[in-house]
Amino acid sequence: MGKSSKDKRDIYYRRAKEQGWRARSAFKLLQLNDEFQLFNGVKRVVDLCAAPGSWSQVLSRELYQNQNQKDAKIVAVDLQPMTPIEGVTTIQADITHPKTLQSILEIFGGEPADFVCSDGAPDVTGLHDLDEYIQAQLILSALQLTTCILKPGGSFVAKIFRGRDIDLLYSQLGYLFDKVICAKPRSSRGTSLEAFIVCLGYKPRSGWNPTLELNKSTEEFFEDANIGKSYNLQHFELPDPEERKIAKFIACGDLNDGDSDATYTIDIDSTVKGLDPVQMPTAPPYKKALEMKRRGDLVRR
Ligand code: SAM
Repeated sequence: MGKSSKDKRDIYYRRAKEQGWRARSAFKLLQLNDEFQLFNGVKRVVDLCAAPGSWSQVLSRELYQNQNQKDAKIVAVDLQPMTPIEGVTTIQADITHPKTLQSILEIFGGEPADFVCSDGAPDVTGLHDLDEYIQAQLILSALQLTTCILKPGGSFVAKIFRGRDIDLLYSQLGYLFDKVICAKPRSSRGTSLEAFIVCLGYKPRSGWNPTLELNKSTEEFFEDANIGKSYNLQHFELPDPEERKIAKFIACGDLNDGDSDATYTIDIDSTVKGLDPVQMPTAPPYKKALEMKRRGDLVRR
């Protein structure tokens, strides 16, 4: 989050800076928690795809300050380096790699997690089908890791984009959790397909011992649990619509709170100056270009 005119347009962007959150996404997790009480009794948490770290900030404040849990453990994982956050162990790693699971388990001393969240988004290529596929794979990877580390009864929250194959994902999740809800926090732009799946009450498949292997696809992983694509597609063909699991949709966040699609002229008028970012980006994609420009190596031909 830089110093930008967005301060004047987007109320959550501005508020995040005023309240010290590294990203406006903090409000999404806060609003999801207001609706579903996700943090109640939670001690071990995994924040997947966590950089720059606003969800980890929310978790740290909630567990250590509000709940005063001295023995809580929060692990944050991202491909990008993260500036440290009090009480949070950060791992710079790929969530799709089996080693990442081992690293998290070591930090938890082999104990399972109570709550796993993922706000993952891959770099966009601009090729719509490819982007949609990579996003879907990232969610499945987060779910894979979750099934290997979440305690029975635990919760999982992940960002999704309501694209073509979303019914299949809802269906798969329905076999793994007591409740699956598709939630749209008010701070998530209404114009975006973004939403969050809130999965409560993990129920491991009986007789299934999930393990991550480097050469196993997400498809093969879930086939082992009988909830892969082909199993689900057979069920989709059943005439009884009850067989098809569709997630309930809930909008969350106070209606009187800010509208993320609106332009604000009352709270934040033109006299309000842009605020400095809470945390400078550690490894922005434009870093190399800036260095080249400084050296005079960026020449237009
Ligand atoms: N929840 C974060 C916060 O509140 O600050 C924002 C997350 S940001 C929208 C998405 C993140 O997903 C990026 O930092 C990106 O590096 C990360 N990501 C994408 N693919 C990943 C992967 N395979 N492994 C780990 N992190 C990944």
